[in-house]
Amino acid sequence: MLLRHTPPGFSERKALTINPAKTCQPIGAMYAALGLHNCMPHSHGSQGCCAYHRSSLTRHYNDPIMATTSSFSEGSSVFGGQANLLEAFTNIFTLYNPDIIAVNTTCLSEVIGDDLVQIIKKAYEDKKIPDGKIVIHANTPSFTGSHITGYANMATAMVKYFSQHTGKRNGKITLIPSFIEPSDMTEIKHIATEMGIKYIMFPDTSDVVNSPMDGHFRMYPKGGCPKESVTASGDSNAVIAIGRLGAMPAARLLDTQCKVPVHVLDLPIGITATDIFVDTLRRIAGVAVPESLRKERGQLVDILCDMNQYTYGKKVSLLGDPDILLSMVQFCKDAGMEVLHVLTGTPPGKVKLEDRVRELYGNKVVVKAGLQCDMFMFHQLVQENRPDLIMGNTYCKYICRDMDIPLLRIGYPIYDRIGQSYVPITGYRGGMHLLLKILSMFMDRQDRDAEEENVELIM
Ligand code: SF4
Repeated sequence: MLLRHTPPGFSERKALTINPAKTCQPIGAMYAALGLHNCMPHSHGSQGCCAYHRSSLTRHYNDPIMATTSSFSEGSSVFGGQANLLEAFTNIFTLYNPDIIAVNTTCLSEVIGDDLVQIIKKAYEDKKIPDGKIVIHANTPSFTGSHITGYANMATAMVKYFSQHTGKRNGKITLIPSFIEPSDMTEIKHIATEMGIKYIMFPDTSDVVNSPMDGHFRMYPKGGCPKESVTASGDSNAVIAIGRLGAMPAARLLDTQCKVPVHVLDLPIGITATDIFVDTLRRIAGVAVPESLRKERGQLVDILCDMNQYTYGKKVSLLGDPDILLSMVQFCKDAGMEVLHVLTGTPPGKVKLEDRVRELYGNKVVVKAGLQCDMFMFHQLVQENRPDLIMGNTYCKYICRDMDIPLLRIGYPIYDRIGQSYVPITGYRGGMHLLLKILSMFMDRQDRDAEEENVELIM
């Protein structure tokens, strides 16, 4: 079985990654670009890169993901991809007619050193970009960072290219979510709507990668944030970065560029983080928390209290996307679970991930973050200190199968289950879904492992 060869004992490495606990930057950039209305993501590199990015997103979302490529050949790999990109602009606007093309670079075009600012300027000068159409770009070399970094870079590009301050505030709050599911974006909008808040949210992939099947193909589904709204975010009264790694750079740039006061929060997963999100919205907008949200909160608290005996003291190991991990640490703490390990392959950059985890959970937890923190390292850690539950992406299934540990699939990618793009984990309602899933896993285990005479009918 894959990974059964992982030797016991923990070994630190400096220069080798074995089965990365991350995917590549352009995947996140493409996903963010899909959160703009009428936008075509474009991968500036070889066809193989684009095929991988599209197939990864298609497998995760079970929806066809549209994207185009500069189709580098041997010539462009040596002399640069300017000619390919200029031709691509003509072809894409002629054939697919998007309002926006969002170009992400790849390892290849970054190593060559293609200057995207210069190429896009030339495209405007050469009339390759029709009037009213726009090309934006983000640098996403995949030999650094991860899909989360790529998402953050493209969200930041949206601010850089579109956001403008006219000198007059529009009374809105800008919400910039990290790399989360479309269902979670919908849930965040649900909370803001229930509170009567006027908001702008981007990227917004709800109704794009989880749009309903109605028998009609749409290259550009009805969802996605219109570019005019991103422009208006420069006039908003405040911006909330919902997630530290995926959303904070864009929110900080909005502050720098348009003087929009910024608030940086963890993703609203679980009671505590959702309370902080709701309270921040309440304070900024000067509104009261409606009865509908109090009811949702009360229901989550009810389940937490009623079923605490099944979660209390259970050991958990977490792997995946850093913004989700930070909130999951708090979620586990609220449910009385013991977090053993937190591991992400995404380099934390300026975010002090380890400090934040320790702030939330204390010193007992093992925290590993960076390019050398991979599935091999995670396997060694859980071999040393076995958890009752692993929470992470699809790739954890080999470790879970090897060690007979249940797996709660969260984060990206999830290739072997569906539902995450329809059922949220954020907000109070998402917290309920998440908690019910965890409870089912622990209770199924108890049923499976109980001696015959101890099998309980009522639990
Ligand atoms: S890691 Fe680099 S070369 Fe590989 S698919 Fe991603 S961008 Fe392309």
